[in-house]
Amino acid sequence: MCLADITGRIAADLEYLKQFTATPGNGCTRLPFTKEARAAVDFLKKIMAEAGLEVREDAAGNVIGVMKGEDENAPCVMMGSHYDSVTNGGDFDGIAGIVCAVEAARQLKEKNIKLKRNFVVVGFCDEEGLRFGTGYFGSGAMLGNRDVEYCKHYRDQDGISIYDAMKGYGLDPEKIGDAKWPEGSIGKFLELHIEQGPVLDAENIELGLVDCIVGIQRYMVTVHGRADHAGTTPMDMRMDAVDAATKVISKIADWAREKADGTVATTGYIHTVPGGMNIVAEQVDFTVDIRSRNNDNISDIANRIRAALDRETAQMGGSYEIDTKLVITPVMLSEEMLQIMEDCCREKGYSYKRLPSGAGHDALEIGQVIPTVMLFVPSRDGRSHCPVEFTRYSDFARASVVMTELAEKLLTA
Ligand SMILES: [Zn+2]
Repeated sequence: MCLADITGRIAADLEYLKQFTATPGNGCTRLPFTKEARAAVDFLKKIMAEAGLEVREDAAGNVIGVMKGEDENAPCVMMGSHYDSVTNGGDFDGIAGIVCAVEAARQLKEKNIKLKRNFVVVGFCDEEGLRFGTGYFGSGAMLGNRDVEYCKHYRDQDGISIYDAMKGYGLDPEKIGDAKWPEGSIGKFLELHIEQGPVLDAENIELGLVDCIVGIQRYMVTVHGRADHAGTTPMDMRMDAVDAATKVISKIADWAREKADGTVATTGYIHTVPGGMNIVAEQVDFTVDIRSRNNDNISDIANRIRAALDRETAQMGGSYEIDTKLVITPVMLSEEMLQIMEDCCREKGYSYKRLPSGAGHDALEIGQVIPTVMLFVPSRDGRSHCPVEFTRYSDFARASVVMTELAEKLLTA
């Protein structure tokens, strides 16, 4: 199978999948537990089956395809990514990692490799976490980190819980525990993903071998003050939630700049209540997203935010709450698999570079407990989470060749 043919197969799958969006003509919007998600999963099941995989959907909405090896109980080699998207996102974020894993299965079948252990292709449900303000739902469930309480706790902007959304989608949330894989059953994991940053494209490099994924902490902060007339309430007699909240928010970026290790911190959402031009705000909700290769940097910034909230809300005479949305420590990826991929790139003449991932991925959740590696392909101009996101199909094809070689080495060992 030559690279042009592989490119053609990947292009055909990804072009077909483009139609499963809630915003046709304006990027991919495929939120979890929607009809667009269902349609994409049905197509993935079809191409998995055609590639010779035994296909099923688990209790968390993950789609799983298995190519059986000699010893079905030996720790498997798993490859995949997520099939959901953000709102008005790109066509390849996540889904390309599943399509390339299916392509790797096709190539293994064509090479007639005798597998000693199972090769598993997975499409994860709700990695982005946009709808419910969470993240890594399907991959977390696979590790046993999601339960019924979790499903009931998190709600979307319409007040629909994960629990109810799952029911509407045809899943039984009471069975979420069944999505867990027995300890030791997943031997190794690889995720192919678009880079979502500018490095590979700017340096004209075909493949990124990811050696570390940064850690992430996400918080929703609510500051409580008191609503009053903006004209008649003197400055020293008001409890202005905006005043207190913004004093904290304004410091967060500077705290991140003080740190090394690619530390970043972002407040991407601010909401005031009641939100009137002539009313002192009684409440401010804002988010904080902190990331770094070094977990101490993340924790230090989170602690400084808490201390500043203590100080500013006491000053104002109000109060605050912090809802922890996500805590994930940085992950160093598998040197063994990096080495195999590096050898393969050299042998095939593909240009490559080692780099860290600043974005969280299912590999971040899984890499906490299972030897994991990631492969990046270039994102044109580094753009992602927007409709102009683009990667060349030939780059995906080269990645699938490396994935196949890695799978072959691991599955025959
Ligand atoms: Zn993604």
